[in-house]
Amino acid sequence: MTVYLVGAGPGDPGLLTRRGAELLGRADVVLFDRLVDPRLLELAPVEALRIDVGKRPGQFRHQDEINALLLEHARLGRTVVRLKGGDPFVFGRGGEEAEALLGAGIAFEVVPGVTSAFAAPAAAGVPVTHRGLSSSVTVVSGHAGDPDAPGAVDWEALARTGGTLVILMGMASRAEIARRLVEAGRSPDTAVLVVHRGTTPGQASVRTSLAGLAEVELGPPCTIVIGPVAALDLHDGAGGALAGTRVVVTRARAQAAPLVSALAEAGATVIELPVIAVADPPDGGAALRSEAARADTYDWIVLTSANAVDRFVGLLRDGRALGRVRLAVVGAATARALAEHRLVADLIPDEETADGLVHAMPDAPSGDGGPRRVLFPRAVGARDVVAPGLRRKGWEVTGVDAYRTVAAAGGDQGIGENELDVASSADVITFTSPSTVTCYVELAGRRATPPVVACIGPVTADAARHAGFHVDVVAAEPSVGGLVAALSAHLGADVAPPT
Ligand code: SAH
Repeated sequence: MTVYLVGAGPGDPGLLTRRGAELLGRADVVLFDRLVDPRLLELAPVEALRIDVGKRPGQFRHQDEINALLLEHARLGRTVVRLKGGDPFVFGRGGEEAEALLGAGIAFEVVPGVTSAFAAPAAAGVPVTHRGLSSSVTVVSGHAGDPDAPGAVDWEALARTGGTLVILMGMASRAEIARRLVEAGRSPDTAVLVVHRGTTPGQASVRTSLAGLAEVELGPPCTIVIGPVAALDLHDGAGGALAGTRVVVTRARAQAAPLVSALAEAGATVIELPVIAVADPPDGGAALRSEAARADTYDWIVLTSANAVDRFVGLLRDGRALGRVRLAVVGAATARALAEHRLVADLIPDEETADGLVHAMPDAPSGDGGPRRVLFPRAVGARDVVAPGLRRKGWEVTGVDAYRTVAAAGGDQGIGENELDVASSADVITFTSPSTVTCYVELAGRRATPPVVACIGPVTADAARHAGFHVDVVAAEPSVGGLVAALSAHLGADVAPPT
Protein backbone atom coordinates (compact mmCIF):
# COMPACT_ATOMS: atom_id res chain seq x y z
CA MET A 1 0.00 0.00 0.00
CA THR A 2 1.76 3.01 -1.31
CA VAL A 3 0.43 6.36 -2.41
CA TYR A 4 2.22 8.08 -5.28
CA LEU A 5 1.86 11.84 -5.56
CA VAL A 6 2.52 12.14 -9.28
CA GLY A 7 3.00 15.33 -11.27
CA ALA A 8 0.95 15.17 -14.48
CA GLY A 9 2.78 18.08 -16.09
CA PRO A 10 1.27 21.27 -17.45
CA GLY A 11 -1.19 19.76 -19.95
CA ASP A 12 0.53 18.09 -22.90
CA PRO A 13 0.43 14.37 -22.02
CA GLY A 14 3.91 13.97 -23.51
CA LEU A 15 5.27 15.90 -20.55
CA LEU A 16 4.47 13.21 -17.97
CA THR A 17 7.63 11.62 -16.55
CA ARG A 18 8.50 7.99 -17.33
CA ARG A 19 8.19 7.16 -13.65
CA GLY A 20 4.71 8.69 -13.64
CA ALA A 21 3.68 6.62 -16.68
CA GLU A 22 5.01 3.44 -15.12
CA LEU A 23 3.08 4.01 -11.88
CA LEU A 24 -0.13 4.87 -13.72
CA GLY A 25 0.29 1.61 -15.62
CA ARG A 26 -0.09 -0.39 -12.44
CA ALA A 27 -2.42 1.79 -10.39
CA ASP A 28 -5.51 0.31 -8.71
CA VAL A 29 -6.91 3.76 -8.03
CA VAL A 30 -6.21 7.10 -9.71
CA LEU A 31 -7.38 10.29 -8.04
CA PHE A 32 -7.00 13.06 -10.58
CA ASP A 33 -7.37 16.83 -10.76
CA ARG A 34 -9.48 18.81 -13.12
CA LEU A 35 -7.62 19.60 -16.37
CA VAL A 36 -5.66 16.35 -16.36
CA ASP A 37 -5.57 15.14 -19.97
CA PRO A 38 -7.82 12.07 -20.48
CA ARG A 39 -5.01 10.37 -22.40
CA LEU A 40 -3.06 10.12 -19.14
CA LEU A 41 -5.94 8.30 -17.49
CA GLU A 42 -5.87 5.79 -20.33
CA LEU A 43 -2.42 4.71 -19.15
CA ALA A 44 -4.04 3.12 -16.09
CA PRO A 45 -5.31 -0.47 -16.37
CA VAL A 46 -8.90 -0.64 -17.67
CA GLU A 47 -10.13 -1.99 -14.36
CA ALA A 48 -8.50 0.78 -12.29
CA LEU A 49 -10.83 3.03 -10.35
CA ARG A 50 -10.65 6.62 -11.62
CA ILE A 51 -11.87 9.30 -9.25
CA ASP A 52 -12.24 12.90 -10.37
CA VAL A 53 -11.40 14.86 -7.23
CA GLY A 54 -11.44 18.14 -9.16
CA LYS A 55 -15.17 18.23 -8.79
CA ARG A 56 -18.22 16.52 -7.53
CA PRO A 57 -21.63 17.51 -8.77
CA GLY A 58 -21.87 21.25 -8.36
CA GLN A 59 -18.78 21.97 -6.25
CA PHE A 60 -15.12 21.37 -5.63
CA ARG A 61 -14.05 18.80 -3.12
CA HIS A 62 -12.58 19.98 0.09
CA GLN A 63 -8.91 19.14 0.65
CA ASP A 64 -9.82 17.12 3.78
CA GLU A 65 -12.10 15.00 1.66
CA ILE A 66 -9.30 14.29 -0.82
CA ASN A 67 -6.91 13.39 2.02
CA ALA A 68 -9.55 11.05 3.46
CA LEU A 69 -10.00 9.33 0.07
CA LEU A 70 -6.23 8.84 -0.21
CA LEU A 71 -6.05 7.22 3.22
CA GLU A 72 -9.13 5.09 2.63
CA HIS A 73 -7.88 3.54 -0.61
CA ALA A 74 -4.33 3.12 0.70
CA ARG A 75 -5.61 1.28 3.78
CA LEU A 76 -7.43 -1.16 1.52
CA GLY A 77 -3.98 -2.17 0.29
CA ARG A 78 -4.34 -0.54 -3.10
CA THR A 79 -1.74 1.14 -5.25
CA VAL A 80 -2.97 4.70 -5.31
CA VAL A 81 -1.82 7.33 -7.81
CA ARG A 82 -2.71 10.88 -6.90
CA LEU A 83 -2.28 12.60 -10.27
CA LYS A 84 -1.81 16.32 -9.85
CA GLY A 85 -1.42 19.12 -12.40
CA GLY A 86 2.13 20.36 -13.03
CA ASP A 87 4.45 19.53 -10.15
CA PRO A 88 2.75 18.14 -7.03
CA PHE A 89 4.75 20.37 -4.68
CA VAL A 90 4.25 23.67 -6.51
CA PHE A 91 1.04 25.27 -5.25
CA GLY A 92 -0.71 21.96 -5.63
CA ARG A 93 -1.40 21.33 -1.96
CA GLY A 94 0.69 18.20 -2.46
CA GLY A 95 2.52 19.10 0.75
CA GLU A 96 -0.70 18.82 2.71
CA GLU A 97 -1.44 15.44 1.17
CA ALA A 98 2.07 14.26 2.08
CA GLU A 99 1.54 15.46 5.67
CA ALA A 100 -1.74 13.58 5.92
CA LEU A 101 -0.04 10.39 4.69
CA LEU A 102 2.91 10.84 7.05
CA GLY A 103 0.51 11.38 9.92
CA ALA A 104 -1.34 8.18 9.10
CA GLY A 105 1.88 6.19 8.71
CA ILE A 106 1.21 5.39 5.07
CA ALA A 107 4.14 4.97 2.69
CA PHE A 108 4.24 7.46 -0.14
CA GLU A 109 6.50 8.70 -2.89
CA VAL A 110 6.53 12.07 -4.64
CA VAL A 111 7.09 11.96 -8.40
CA PRO A 112 7.98 15.46 -9.58
CA GLY A 113 6.32 16.91 -12.65
CA VAL A 114 6.97 19.66 -15.16
CA THR A 115 5.50 22.76 -13.58
CA SER A 116 3.30 25.10 -15.61
CA ALA A 117 5.19 27.99 -14.00
CA PHE A 118 8.10 27.29 -16.37
CA ALA A 119 6.48 25.18 -19.11
CA ALA A 120 3.61 27.52 -20.00
CA PRO A 121 5.95 30.51 -20.64
CA ALA A 122 8.30 28.24 -22.62
CA ALA A 123 5.41 27.00 -24.77
CA ALA A 124 4.70 30.64 -25.64
CA GLY A 125 8.34 31.32 -26.55
CA VAL A 126 9.47 32.90 -23.28
CA PRO A 127 12.41 31.58 -21.19
CA VAL A 128 11.93 32.58 -17.54
CA THR A 129 15.62 33.46 -17.22
CA HIS A 130 17.83 34.77 -20.00
CA ARG A 131 21.43 35.90 -20.04
CA GLY A 132 21.58 39.65 -19.81
CA LEU A 133 17.86 40.08 -19.11
CA SER A 134 17.05 38.19 -15.95
CA SER A 135 19.09 36.00 -13.66
CA SER A 136 16.38 35.09 -11.19
CA VAL A 137 12.79 33.97 -11.24
CA THR A 138 10.26 34.09 -8.44
CA VAL A 139 7.12 31.96 -8.56
CA VAL A 140 4.26 33.56 -6.66
CA SER A 141 0.65 32.69 -5.92
CA GLY A 142 -1.64 35.53 -6.89
CA HIS A 143 -4.51 34.02 -4.98
CA ALA A 144 -4.72 36.14 -1.83
CA GLY A 145 -6.84 33.63 0.06
CA ASP A 146 -4.60 30.73 -0.86
CA PRO A 147 -3.23 28.85 2.15
CA ASP A 148 0.07 28.48 0.27
CA ALA A 149 0.43 32.25 0.38
CA PRO A 150 0.05 33.05 4.07
CA GLY A 151 -0.75 36.67 4.66
CA ALA A 152 -0.38 39.08 1.84
CA VAL A 153 2.42 38.58 -0.67
CA ASP A 154 4.92 41.40 -0.26
CA TRP A 155 4.56 42.76 -3.81
CA GLU A 156 6.64 45.82 -2.92
CA ALA A 157 9.58 43.62 -1.95
CA LEU A 158 9.13 41.57 -5.11
CA ALA A 159 9.13 44.74 -7.19
CA ARG A 160 12.45 45.78 -5.64
CA THR A 161 14.05 42.35 -6.13
CA GLY A 162 13.81 42.59 -9.91
CA GLY A 163 14.17 39.45 -11.95
CA THR A 164 11.29 37.57 -13.53
CA LEU A 165 8.00 37.13 -11.69
CA VAL A 166 5.83 34.17 -12.56
CA ILE A 167 2.36 34.37 -11.06
CA LEU A 168 0.03 31.40 -10.82
CA MET A 169 -3.64 31.77 -9.91
CA GLY A 170 -3.25 35.49 -10.46
CA MET A 171 -5.95 36.43 -12.92
CA ALA A 172 -8.60 37.45 -10.39
CA SER A 173 -6.23 39.91 -8.72
CA ARG A 174 -4.26 40.96 -11.85
CA ALA A 175 -5.31 44.61 -11.61
CA GLU A 176 -4.19 44.87 -8.00
CA ILE A 177 -0.92 43.04 -8.65
CA ALA A 178 -0.05 45.40 -11.53
CA ARG A 179 -0.96 48.47 -9.48
CA ARG A 180 1.16 47.45 -6.50
CA LEU A 181 4.19 46.55 -8.61
CA VAL A 182 4.04 49.91 -10.41
CA GLU A 183 3.58 51.80 -7.13
CA ALA A 184 6.64 50.03 -5.78
CA GLY A 185 8.73 51.21 -8.69
CA ARG A 186 8.36 48.74 -11.60
CA SER A 187 7.84 50.59 -14.87
CA PRO A 188 4.30 50.42 -16.30
CA ASP A 189 6.03 49.47 -19.58
CA THR A 190 7.48 46.28 -18.06
CA ALA A 191 6.73 43.44 -20.48
CA VAL A 192 4.00 40.97 -19.48
CA LEU A 193 2.96 37.66 -21.01
CA VAL A 194 -0.23 35.83 -20.08
CA VAL A 195 -0.48 32.18 -21.16
CA HIS A 196 -3.77 30.31 -21.04
CA ARG A 197 -3.74 26.47 -21.10
CA GLY A 198 -0.05 26.38 -22.01
CA THR A 199 1.26 23.25 -23.83
CA THR A 200 -2.28 22.17 -24.79
CA PRO A 201 -4.01 22.58 -28.17
CA GLY A 202 -6.20 25.23 -26.52
CA GLN A 203 -3.16 27.37 -25.69
CA ALA A 204 -3.66 31.11 -26.10
CA SER A 205 -1.39 33.94 -25.03
CA VAL A 206 -1.46 37.70 -24.78
CA ARG A 207 1.58 39.99 -24.72
CA THR A 208 1.11 43.27 -22.96
CA SER A 209 2.71 45.47 -20.28
CA LEU A 210 2.02 46.05 -16.59
CA ALA A 211 -0.14 48.98 -17.67
CA GLY A 212 -2.25 46.66 -19.85
CA LEU A 213 -2.46 43.60 -17.59
CA ALA A 214 -5.82 44.54 -16.08
CA GLU A 215 -7.40 44.52 -19.56
CA VAL A 216 -6.36 40.96 -20.44
CA GLU A 217 -9.38 38.66 -20.68
CA LEU A 218 -8.38 34.99 -20.69
CA GLY A 219 -10.18 32.27 -18.76
CA PRO A 220 -8.47 29.98 -16.23
CA PRO A 221 -5.92 28.52 -15.98
CA CYS A 222 -3.41 31.25 -16.79
CA THR A 223 0.23 31.84 -15.97
CA ILE A 224 1.40 35.47 -15.87
CA VAL A 225 5.05 36.33 -16.60
CA ILE A 226 6.34 39.79 -15.69
CA GLY A 227 9.76 41.15 -16.65
CA PRO A 228 11.91 41.86 -19.71
CA VAL A 229 12.00 38.17 -20.71
CA ALA A 230 8.26 38.41 -21.40
CA ALA A 231 9.07 40.43 -24.52
CA LEU A 232 11.09 37.56 -26.03
CA ASP A 233 9.46 35.28 -28.58
CA LEU A 234 11.76 32.33 -29.09
CA HIS A 235 9.93 30.12 -31.53
CA ASP A 236 11.42 27.88 -34.14
CA GLY A 237 10.45 29.80 -37.24
CA ALA A 238 11.24 26.92 -39.59
CA GLY A 239 8.89 24.11 -38.58
CA GLY A 240 7.34 21.67 -41.03
CA ALA A 241 4.85 22.30 -43.81
CA LEU A 242 2.05 22.43 -41.23
CA ALA A 243 3.88 24.59 -38.65
CA GLY A 244 1.46 26.73 -36.69
CA THR A 245 -1.57 24.89 -38.07
CA ARG A 246 -4.05 23.40 -35.62
CA VAL A 247 -5.49 20.18 -37.00
CA VAL A 248 -8.37 18.14 -35.59
CA VAL A 249 -8.17 14.34 -35.77
CA THR A 250 -11.61 12.73 -35.45
CA ARG A 251 -10.48 9.12 -35.65
CA ALA A 252 -11.11 6.79 -32.69
CA ARG A 253 -8.27 7.15 -30.20
CA ALA A 254 -7.08 3.57 -30.63
CA GLN A 255 -6.49 4.15 -34.35
CA ALA A 256 -5.38 7.77 -34.26
CA ALA A 257 -1.68 7.35 -33.42
CA PRO A 258 -0.21 7.09 -36.97
CA LEU A 259 -2.13 10.15 -38.20
CA VAL A 260 -1.39 12.13 -35.04
CA SER A 261 2.35 11.50 -35.31
CA ALA A 262 2.46 12.19 -39.05
CA LEU A 263 0.72 15.54 -38.52
CA ALA A 264 2.91 16.43 -35.55
CA GLU A 265 5.98 15.48 -37.58
CA ALA A 266 4.89 18.01 -40.22
CA GLY A 267 4.73 20.66 -37.48
CA ALA A 268 0.98 20.74 -36.83
CA THR A 269 -0.57 21.15 -33.41
CA VAL A 270 -2.89 18.18 -33.21
CA ILE A 271 -6.25 18.29 -31.48
CA GLU A 272 -7.54 14.81 -30.84
CA LEU A 273 -11.31 14.61 -30.91
CA PRO A 274 -12.17 10.91 -31.04
CA VAL A 275 -15.77 11.21 -32.20
CA ILE A 276 -16.24 7.52 -32.82
CA ALA A 277 -16.47 4.68 -30.40
CA VAL A 278 -16.48 1.04 -31.45
CA ALA A 279 -19.41 -0.97 -30.10
CA ASP A 280 -20.75 -4.53 -30.35
CA PRO A 281 -22.90 -5.38 -33.36
CA PRO A 282 -26.67 -5.69 -32.74
CA ASP A 283 -26.43 -9.44 -31.96
CA GLY A 284 -23.77 -8.77 -29.32
CA GLY A 285 -21.18 -10.58 -31.44
CA ALA A 286 -22.93 -13.97 -31.38
CA ALA A 287 -22.61 -14.58 -35.12
CA LEU A 288 -18.94 -13.60 -35.15
CA ARG A 289 -18.26 -15.91 -32.21
CA SER A 290 -19.77 -18.91 -33.93
CA GLU A 291 -17.88 -18.23 -37.18
CA ALA A 292 -14.65 -17.76 -35.22
CA ALA A 293 -15.24 -21.20 -33.67
CA ARG A 294 -15.18 -22.77 -37.14
CA ALA A 295 -12.66 -20.44 -38.72
CA ASP A 296 -10.70 -23.40 -40.07
CA THR A 297 -13.58 -24.37 -42.36
CA TYR A 298 -12.89 -21.29 -44.52
CA ASP A 299 -10.38 -20.90 -47.28
CA TRP A 300 -9.79 -17.17 -46.75
CA ILE A 301 -10.62 -14.59 -44.10
CA VAL A 302 -10.83 -11.08 -45.43
CA LEU A 303 -10.23 -8.17 -43.06
CA THR A 304 -10.70 -4.56 -44.09
CA SER A 305 -10.08 -2.70 -40.84
CA ALA A 306 -8.00 -2.87 -37.67
CA ASN A 307 -11.26 -3.04 -35.72
CA ALA A 308 -12.35 -6.15 -37.62
CA VAL A 309 -8.94 -7.69 -36.90
CA ASP A 310 -9.11 -6.98 -33.19
CA ARG A 311 -12.70 -8.13 -32.83
CA PHE A 312 -12.23 -11.33 -34.82
CA VAL A 313 -8.80 -12.41 -33.61
CA GLY A 314 -9.83 -11.58 -30.05
CA LEU A 315 -12.39 -14.38 -30.26
CA LEU A 316 -9.92 -17.07 -31.29
CA ARG A 317 -9.01 -19.37 -28.48
CA ASP A 318 -5.67 -20.22 -29.96
CA GLY A 319 -3.81 -19.24 -33.14
CA ARG A 320 -4.06 -22.86 -34.33
CA ALA A 321 -7.85 -22.46 -34.56
CA LEU A 322 -7.13 -20.83 -37.91
CA GLY A 323 -5.77 -24.07 -39.37
CA ARG A 324 -4.69 -23.47 -42.95
CA VAL A 325 -6.90 -20.45 -43.53
CA ARG A 326 -5.27 -17.66 -45.46
CA LEU A 327 -5.64 -14.05 -44.39
CA ALA A 328 -6.25 -11.14 -46.75
CA VAL A 329 -6.15 -7.54 -45.56
CA VAL A 330 -6.94 -4.24 -47.22
CA GLY A 331 -3.67 -2.47 -46.46
CA ALA A 332 -0.56 -1.96 -44.39
CA ALA A 333 -2.38 -0.63 -41.32
CA THR A 334 -4.66 -3.67 -41.18
CA ALA A 335 -1.64 -5.93 -41.69
CA ARG A 336 0.04 -4.24 -38.71
CA ALA A 337 -3.05 -4.88 -36.60
CA LEU A 338 -2.76 -8.59 -37.49
CA ALA A 339 0.96 -8.54 -36.75
CA GLU A 340 0.18 -7.33 -33.24
CA HIS A 341 -1.60 -10.65 -32.76
CA ARG A 342 1.42 -12.41 -34.28
CA LEU A 343 -0.39 -13.26 -37.48
CA VAL A 344 1.07 -12.56 -40.91
CA ALA A 345 -1.17 -11.40 -43.75
CA ASP A 346 -1.00 -13.63 -46.86
CA LEU A 347 -2.33 -10.97 -49.18
CA ILE A 348 -2.02 -7.17 -49.13
CA PRO A 349 -3.18 -5.44 -52.32
CA ASP A 350 -0.96 -2.84 -54.01
CA GLU A 351 -3.93 -0.50 -54.21
CA GLU A 352 -5.05 -0.27 -50.59
CA THR A 353 -8.81 -0.03 -51.12
CA ALA A 354 -11.71 -2.47 -51.06
CA ASP A 355 -11.68 -2.56 -54.86
CA GLY A 356 -7.95 -3.15 -54.84
CA LEU A 357 -8.44 -6.05 -52.47
CA VAL A 358 -11.12 -7.67 -54.63
CA HIS A 359 -8.87 -7.24 -57.65
CA ALA A 360 -5.86 -8.80 -55.89
CA MET A 361 -7.76 -11.85 -54.61
CA PRO A 362 -7.44 -14.97 -56.79
CA ASP A 363 -10.48 -16.48 -58.50
CA ALA A 364 -12.12 -19.32 -56.57
CA PRO A 365 -10.72 -22.67 -57.74
CA SER A 366 -13.15 -24.33 -60.13
CA GLY A 367 -14.01 -27.99 -60.24
CA ASP A 368 -14.94 -30.35 -57.44
CA GLY A 369 -13.55 -30.50 -53.97
CA GLY A 370 -11.41 -27.99 -52.19
CA PRO A 371 -12.79 -25.24 -50.02
CA ARG A 372 -13.88 -22.06 -51.74
CA ARG A 373 -15.35 -20.21 -48.83
CA VAL A 374 -14.52 -16.71 -47.60
CA LEU A 375 -15.33 -15.27 -44.18
CA PHE A 376 -15.72 -11.49 -44.11
CA PRO A 377 -16.06 -9.92 -40.63
CA ARG A 378 -17.23 -6.37 -41.35
CA ALA A 379 -18.65 -3.18 -39.86
CA VAL A 380 -22.42 -2.92 -39.61
CA GLY A 381 -23.76 -0.63 -42.31
CA ALA A 382 -20.46 -0.19 -44.16
CA ARG A 383 -20.52 0.14 -47.93
CA ASP A 384 -20.03 -3.40 -49.19
CA VAL A 385 -17.73 -3.72 -52.14
CA VAL A 386 -15.87 -6.81 -50.99
CA ALA A 387 -18.63 -9.42 -50.73
CA PRO A 388 -20.25 -8.84 -54.15
CA GLY A 389 -16.81 -8.49 -55.76
CA LEU A 390 -15.59 -11.80 -54.39
CA ARG A 391 -18.83 -13.54 -55.31
CA ARG A 392 -18.22 -12.47 -58.89
CA LYS A 393 -14.88 -14.25 -58.62
CA GLY A 394 -16.67 -17.46 -57.65
CA TRP A 395 -16.25 -17.35 -53.86
CA GLU A 396 -18.97 -18.25 -51.41
CA VAL A 397 -18.80 -15.27 -49.04
CA THR A 398 -20.13 -15.24 -45.47
CA GLY A 399 -20.41 -11.65 -44.31
CA VAL A 400 -20.70 -11.36 -40.55
CA ASP A 401 -21.24 -8.28 -38.40
CA ALA A 402 -18.12 -7.75 -36.29
CA TYR A 403 -18.69 -4.29 -34.82
CA ARG A 404 -20.45 -1.04 -35.37
CA THR A 405 -19.26 2.50 -34.99
CA VAL A 406 -21.26 4.90 -32.85
CA ALA A 407 -20.77 8.54 -31.90
CA ALA A 408 -18.66 8.86 -28.74
CA ALA A 409 -20.67 9.86 -25.71
CA GLY A 410 -20.77 13.56 -24.91
CA GLY A 411 -20.57 15.08 -21.44
CA ASP A 412 -18.73 13.64 -18.48
CA GLN A 413 -18.30 10.17 -19.97
CA GLY A 414 -16.94 11.32 -23.29
CA ILE A 415 -16.13 14.46 -25.21
CA GLY A 416 -16.72 17.69 -23.29
CA GLU A 417 -18.08 21.01 -24.50
CA ASN A 418 -14.65 22.55 -24.05
CA GLU A 419 -12.99 20.00 -26.35
CA LEU A 420 -15.66 20.61 -29.00
CA ASP A 421 -15.12 24.38 -28.75
CA VAL A 422 -11.35 24.00 -29.07
CA ALA A 423 -11.82 21.75 -32.11
CA SER A 424 -14.27 24.13 -33.71
CA SER A 425 -11.73 26.97 -33.51
CA ALA A 426 -8.97 24.91 -35.20
CA ASP A 427 -7.64 25.58 -38.70
CA VAL A 428 -8.27 22.15 -40.22
CA ILE A 429 -10.55 19.20 -39.52
CA THR A 430 -9.67 15.77 -40.90
CA PHE A 431 -12.12 12.97 -41.63
CA THR A 432 -10.84 9.46 -42.14
CA SER A 433 -14.07 7.53 -42.75
CA PRO A 434 -17.73 8.32 -43.43
CA SER A 435 -18.55 7.51 -39.81
CA THR A 436 -16.13 10.15 -38.51
CA VAL A 437 -18.20 12.65 -40.52
CA THR A 438 -21.59 11.57 -39.17
CA CYS A 439 -20.37 11.21 -35.59
CA TYR A 440 -18.68 14.63 -35.68
CA VAL A 441 -21.86 16.27 -36.97
CA GLU A 442 -23.86 14.54 -34.24
CA LEU A 443 -21.55 15.78 -31.46
CA ALA A 444 -20.61 19.24 -32.73
CA GLY A 445 -24.18 20.40 -33.22
CA ARG A 446 -24.31 23.96 -34.49
CA ARG A 447 -20.67 24.82 -33.83
CA ALA A 448 -18.64 26.38 -36.62
CA THR A 449 -16.55 23.99 -38.72
CA PRO A 450 -12.81 24.74 -39.09
CA PRO A 451 -12.14 26.57 -42.37
CA VAL A 452 -10.33 23.66 -44.05
CA VAL A 453 -11.95 20.22 -44.37
CA ALA A 454 -9.57 17.40 -45.37
CA CYS A 455 -10.68 13.85 -46.23
CA ILE A 456 -8.62 10.69 -46.53
CA GLY A 457 -10.30 9.50 -49.74
CA PRO A 458 -13.17 9.91 -52.19
CA VAL A 459 -15.70 7.88 -50.21
CA THR A 460 -15.17 9.95 -47.07
CA ALA A 461 -15.21 13.14 -49.14
CA ASP A 462 -18.62 12.18 -50.58
CA ALA A 463 -19.94 11.58 -47.07
CA ALA A 464 -18.63 14.99 -45.97
CA ARG A 465 -20.24 16.78 -48.92
CA HIS A 466 -23.44 14.91 -48.25
CA ALA A 467 -23.32 16.25 -44.66
CA GLY A 468 -23.06 19.79 -46.03
CA PHE A 469 -19.30 20.41 -45.75
CA HIS A 470 -17.21 22.11 -48.39
CA VAL A 471 -14.33 19.66 -48.90
CA ASP A 472 -11.02 21.42 -49.56
CA VAL A 473 -8.57 18.51 -49.55
CA VAL A 474 -8.93 14.89 -50.70
CA ALA A 475 -5.85 12.68 -50.42
CA ALA A 476 -4.66 11.39 -53.78
CA GLU A 477 -3.73 8.14 -52.10
CA PRO A 478 -6.13 7.08 -49.30
CA SER A 479 -3.61 6.70 -46.48
CA VAL A 480 -2.25 8.68 -43.55
CA GLY A 481 0.77 9.72 -45.63
CA GLY A 482 -1.47 10.68 -48.54
CA LEU A 483 -3.66 12.82 -46.32
CA VAL A 484 -0.77 14.69 -44.70
CA ALA A 485 0.88 15.26 -48.10
CA ALA A 486 -2.35 16.57 -49.65
CA LEU A 487 -2.99 18.85 -46.70
CA SER A 488 0.58 20.22 -46.74
CA ALA A 489 0.30 20.86 -50.48
CA HIS A 490 -3.02 22.64 -50.03
CA LEU A 491 -1.83 24.90 -47.22
CA GLY A 492 1.47 25.52 -49.01
CA ALA A 493 -0.46 26.58 -52.11
CA ASP A 494 -2.57 28.87 -49.95
CA VAL A 495 0.38 30.87 -48.72
CA ALA A 496 2.37 30.88 -51.99
CA PRO A 497 2.59 34.37 -53.43
CA PRO A 498 0.49 34.86 -56.57
CA THR A 499 2.61 34.70 -59.74
N1 SAH B 1 1.10 22.34 -9.37
C1 SAH B 1 0.74 23.13 -10.52
C2 SAH B 1 0.16 24.47 -10.15
C3 SAH B 1 -1.15 24.35 -9.42
S1 SAH B 1 -1.89 25.90 -9.12
C4 SAH B 1 1.98 23.29 -11.40
O1 SAH B 1 3.10 22.99 -10.97
O2 SAH B 1 1.83 23.68 -12.56
C5 SAH B 1 -2.91 26.08 -10.55
C6 SAH B 1 -2.42 27.23 -11.38
O3 SAH B 1 -1.37 26.81 -12.23
C7 SAH B 1 -3.45 27.80 -12.32
O4 SAH B 1 -4.30 28.70 -11.67
C8 SAH B 1 -2.57 28.50 -13.32
O5 SAH B 1 -2.08 29.70 -12.80
C9 SAH B 1 -1.42 27.54 -13.43
N2 SAH B 1 -1.57 26.59 -14.53
C10 SAH B 1 -1.81 25.27 -14.44
N3 SAH B 1 -1.83 24.71 -15.65
C11 SAH B 1 -1.57 25.70 -16.54
C12 SAH B 1 -1.44 25.75 -17.97
N4 SAH B 1 -1.56 24.65 -18.73
N5 SAH B 1 -1.18 26.94 -18.54
C13 SAH B 1 -1.04 28.06 -17.79
N6 SAH B 1 -1.15 28.05 -16.47
C14 SAH B 1 -1.41 26.89 -15.83
